[in-house]
Amino acid sequence: MSALDAARDLFAAFTGREPDGVWSAPGRVNLIGEHTDYNDGFVLPFAIGQRTYAAAARNDTGELRVRSTFADECVTVRIDELDDLFPTPAGRAPAVSEWSAYVLGVAWALRPDRAATGVDLAIASDVPVGAGLSSSAAIECVVAAALDELWGLGLGAMDLARAGRRAENEAVGAPTGIMDQAASMLGHPDAATFLDCRSLAHRSVPTGFADAGLVVLVVDTHVRHAHSTGGYRQRREACELGARTLGVPALRDLTPDDLPRAARLLDGTVFRRVRHVVTENRRVLDTVAALVEHGPRAIGDLLTASHASLRDDFEVSVPELDTAVDAALSAGALGARMTGGGFGGSVLALVPGDDAPAVTDAVHRSFAAADFTRPTIFPVTVSAGAHRSR
Ligand code: ADP
Ligand code: MG
Repeated sequence: MSALDAARDLFAAFTGREPDGVWSAPGRVNLIGEHTDYNDGFVLPFAIGQRTYAAAARNDTGELRVRSTFADECVTVRIDELDDLFPTPAGRAPAVSEWSAYVLGVAWALRPDRAATGVDLAIASDVPVGAGLSSSAAIECVVAAALDELWGLGLGAMDLARAGRRAENEAVGAPTGIMDQAASMLGHPDAATFLDCRSLAHRSVPTGFADAGLVVLVVDTHVRHAHSTGGYRQRREACELGARTLGVPALRDLTPDDLPRAARLLDGTVFRRVRHVVTENRRVLDTVAALVEHGPRAIGDLLTASHASLRDDFEVSVPELDTAVDAALSAGALGARMTGGGFGGSVLALVPGDDAPAVTDAVHRSFAAADFTRPTIFPVTVSAGAHRSR
């Protein structure tokens, strides 16, 4: 059954009626620009065909009632009591279950000041969870799109993306940047979204993958990360320390020419974190230029260089990600890199269509040889952003 039908069926099962509409929002793959978003830098994600659907309708109870195929639980909260739940102080157990914090958090972030109408929401998704394809942004953005219309807010895509980010930061407690939500809201069939995370200026950059006979394969390693804890937070703190020490508002304000000075002023680990961000911002700009001037076959080395920097300087890779990258490259991928925050998740490989079976085989064989869990390997297509699907 499609995820769209699953959302409709779940809605009917729990409300006994038809939804007012079905909205959807995609997951995303970040083509390049990793750990640059919260440093006010550049990213180049694209929305993928895998989407999260929300069947929704207004109700007259003044409550938000939410179900998802992901969890065997119906969550009910009075809309005028959302302010009692969030923001969630760091370190305190959240008053709501984790998955529902994404949904309730968006409602809280969008909360209109006038009395808001109650809404029933049923959610289903074919975005793999925790794979680095941002199922979290997909659920936030689909809820934002649905509530925007059902509450008559008339907000723009970037405002809805911001509400999703606030939910993730302040309701879930994951200190992530704006990239995922912007990618999910702004996605365009056949184009990636080039986003300046400081000004939030953005434009579509045609990828031309299909015309060039290329496919993007995703290797989901099944190694799961948890952004609300540990390494991700430490990386952010290192970036903030680096910017503070170097006297700039954010690492975005540095160029590769500043790296010798950074090497003198920063301790080795912080310097390498900074060098990743500075060089990665440059690689994003170079990728945009290469796509525009030479087409997608020209970006392979930039993708692979990004992976090396994430592995060696930012230290957010894991052996499974490195193995997938190496195997894909050895079997004919033009470029490959981990995508998403790291510590697990997925690799993307840019592959000539004819070589896709060989790349898939090579990755499976190298995982088997290393005794890693068998990965899931699938193509992703460049797809549209959040919208009303029915
Ligand atoms: P990623 O965004 O890489 O998939 P995250 O850890 O950021 O991983 O977000 C995954 C979490 O988002 C899940 O554990 C769950 O709490 C929530 N989530 C994602 N999709 C759904 C869904 N369809 N229904 C309910 N919760 C979801
Ligand atoms: Mg996420």
